[in-house]
Amino acid sequence: MSAAVKKVFDDYRVLSDEALQPEKPRVKEFLAAMKKSLQRDNWTFWLPYVLSLEACMKCGTCGEVCPVYQASGRKEIYHPVYRADMLRKIYKRYFTWPGRLFPALVGAEDLTEEKLNALAENVYRCTVCRRCAVACPMAVDNGVIVREARKILDAIGIAPEELKENGTAKQLQAGNAPGINTAAFLDMVEFLEEEIREARGYEVKIPVDKEGAEYLLMHNAGDYLAFAETVMGAAEIMHAAGADWTLNSPQTGINDAVNYGVFYSDAEFARIIKAQVETVKRLGARVLVVGECGHAFEAFKYLILRLIPEKERPFEIKSILELIDQWIKEGRLKLDPQKNPEPVTFHDSCKLGRLGGMYEEPRRILKAACADFREMSPNREMNLCCGGGSGFAIMEKGNFLEFHMETYGKLKAEQLKATGASIVACACSNCKAQFREIIRYHKLPMRYAGVSELVANALVR
Ligand code: SF4
Ligand code: SF4
Repeated sequence: MSAAVKKVFDDYRVLSDEALQPEKPRVKEFLAAMKKSLQRDNWTFWLPYVLSLEACMKCGTCGEVCPVYQASGRKEIYHPVYRADMLRKIYKRYFTWPGRLFPALVGAEDLTEEKLNALAENVYRCTVCRRCAVACPMAVDNGVIVREARKILDAIGIAPEELKENGTAKQLQAGNAPGINTAAFLDMVEFLEEEIREARGYEVKIPVDKEGAEYLLMHNAGDYLAFAETVMGAAEIMHAAGADWTLNSPQTGINDAVNYGVFYSDAEFARIIKAQVETVKRLGARVLVVGECGHAFEAFKYLILRLIPEKERPFEIKSILELIDQWIKEGRLKLDPQKNPEPVTFHDSCKLGRLGGMYEEPRRILKAACADFREMSPNREMNLCCGGGSGFAIMEKGNFLEFHMETYGKLKAEQLKATGASIVACACSNCKAQFREIIRYHKLPMRYAGVSELVANALVR
């Protein structure tokens, strides 16, 4: 941390001075926003949030499974309970009768500006992977507590610029978070068609803005710039299955599946999902296919239900993994696993797996597409978060990258090494961004790949 940046919690700072404004008094504002968060019209996770604030019995089980606490050498400040208690103590002190009358007796504490600043930083040390919630005997969800704390902080103007300005604000204004305009998008699509022609020796037409297509495929727009192989793979799969499909450009509305509101703001989440739904309606697709993006899947498949009931939207929503799995079963995609002879392992993204229950689809797909599939251990609901979740993959300011490489990233690197695989497959852009860094930082002799990329490579024509 540079000398000019004030230390407010540990040796790292994820929030810049402009975002945090550590000298500005905000305790009163915080308490007002927290009061609001405790009301029943907090429509996303009110009940689990309040129960999680009430129910912890301090057994410590969550710490045994938390990647950041374990990898930090069990530093108390990174224990899930330490972090949750930062908010819980405020809750008890200001929002319960015993805490108001006898604070010392119930472990309640006055909120100070210093504690507020430390809380703001600490909620960005947790990736909201919810591994702790799976293990908790009381069903306490520390991830939900963290998310609610981030929401309260955003309500008083404290949020990372990467998520707010470069994420949600730009997406709503330009149609996608990277700010790609329509002309540049169309150029990129043409370039991808050429790349496929050169690599495979056949033509794949990538339709754009086709009205009334059966499938509208919406990728994390960052994939066009950083993980083009995934976008090309998906196009080849759509083509091979003979699907009536299309991508959409920003001139139709939103053409980016991401929703950074998931990580810190219900208001931003709602604005984006409504704009995405309007875009799909405008194009008249029957099925919205969510590309390889974990948090987009959570937003479209689950969180959306709290806002727009299924009967109010005239289209289905599917992950691209569900579609590929279905098409392999139906014989619409023919694969030769010998075309991917290297050992391949699979990373369960927290949002697809632990939150979305999508464990078997990617495994069936990879076993059909790769000759040597290897599980990493542990996997499925106890898989280790790679550390890219919760927006961290795009938060690399200052020395924060070092934090996530030396905590979650270090455990993941050890887990990857133990598989002996030379490719780690995953179906989430944020995980891919994190793997790009983990492989580089920890010098692993392997590469990452999207599931679509491996499937496209195995296609038999
Ligand atoms: S496992 Fe659950 S009950 Fe036990 S300390 Fe952690 S949050 Fe509290
Ligand atoms: S959600 Fe994940 S990172 Fe956060 S406290 Fe729980 S296990 Fe640790």
